[in-house]
Formats: sequence, structure tokens, C-alpha cells
Amino acid sequence: MVSISPKERKKYLIGNWKSNKTKSQVSAFFQEFAQKFKSIGNKKPEGLELIVCPVFIHLEESYKQIIDLKLPILLGAQDISPFEMGAFTGEVTGSQLKEYVSFCIIGHSERRKYFAEDDALLVKKAALAKREGIEVIYCVPDSLTSIPKDVKIVAYEPVFAIGTGTPDTPDNAQKVIKEIKSKNNISLVLYGGSINKDNISKYFEKEDIDGVLVGTSSLDPDSFMQMMLNAAL
Ligand code: PEP
Repeated sequence: MVSISPKERKKYLIGNWKSNKTKSQVSAFFQEFAQKFKSIGNKKPEGLELIVCPVFIHLEESYKQIIDLKLPILLGAQDISPFEMGAFTGEVTGSQLKEYVSFCIIGHSERRKYFAEDDALLVKKAALAKREGIEVIYCVPDSLTSIPKDVKIVAYEPVFAIGTGTPDTPDNAQKVIKEIKSKNNISLVLYGGSINKDNISKYFEKEDIDGVLVGTSSLDPDSFMQMMLNAAL
């Protein structure tokens, strides 16, 4: 594994908005975030990447708001088609997504559970994201689940912790993430599951945890800002 000095090390605060927010709620999020960001001097912690993942149809609005308001936020998609452009009704492809996003979540436990996505399908999605230059954030529920080759960012998201208000402990998350890193030769692994502004710093303190993937607490601009400020680097 390539070692990264603490100064060069990037950390990630990623908001997964899931199927939430109308277009006007998306705009309101960015407007409110921009006001709060101005009130703290338009500064974000050094080395911290801020990413939000809205639903497909709000990527364009999010992109415009981020540019207009000059926000240091990057966009991610919540999913990607396993196919190239063509006759695949309802699918959104990597070549379409890359016009807006730098990242894409693949293999979220809700996709595995409600849409029966399996490892074979996820490998195809990861390959197409890579082909289009989109960085994959690959979700796994444990250290045993296989990870497609070439994935550089993994999120350890134990199912019991997602949306339940009961996170894994920082100590256990650190242990599992260390195992994922050594088994898969991956240097960037995030934790996800019931993170909020009050517990985030405990995870950022851990040696092997490179950031967090957040659902519920990323929806509110104030909470997202507080998480940014509490993400001790
Ligand atoms: C998620 O869905 O990726 C997630 C971590 O959700 P929550 O923060 O609500 O537990």
C-alpha cells in the first residue's frame, strides 16, 4: 500500500441524499449553505473534500448552484448504469453523469437489498464508471465482501447502522476498516452509518478512517456545515 503523509492525506465528507429533496429544496440547501459558509469566512478545513450526491434529475440544478455560489462542493451520483448509452429504458450512463459528477456511489446496501444488485452487476457498474473517469465510492457491509479491482474509495457501511441512529463504534469501525485496507490493498476507506454532527469527530480521530458517508444528517445545510467544522483533521 502506498503510504501518504498526514499533510497530503485527504479526508472525505460525503452526503448521500438518497431519494430526498425536490428541485426547490435542492436550491434552498445550497443557498442556505452558502450563507452559512460566508458567515465563517468562506473557509473549509484544509484537505477535506465535500461531496453531495443528489438524485439524478437534480444534478444539473446542483451543478448550477455550486458554480453560481462558488461553493467548494463536488457532486456524486448515487448509482450508474451497467450499460453504455443505448436502448436501456430508465438508465443513466457514465457518459451522461460525467458531465456533472466526479464521484459515484456503487453498491449501497439499499441497492443491494431493494434492487437485488449483486457482485457481478456491481463489477460492471464500477468498470463503466472507471472508463468514464468517475471515481467510485464502493459500499460494503463488512470486510468479507468482495471489491472490484481498480476501486480506490470504499465505504464500510454496516447494515445495522444505516438510518437507525445506532452507529458502529469508532473502535470497531477502525478495526474493520483496517482489515478492508489490508485485505484489498486499498488506502481510502470511509465509514458510514448514523453519523451526525455530534459523533463525527470520534471517527475522524481514528487512524485508518479517511472520512464518512452520511445519509440523514447530510440533508440539512446547518447539520452538513457543523459536520464539516467538527471533522477534526
Ligand atoms: C447511508 O445511507 O449511506 C447512510 C450512512 O445513512 P445514515 O447516515 O442515515 O445512517
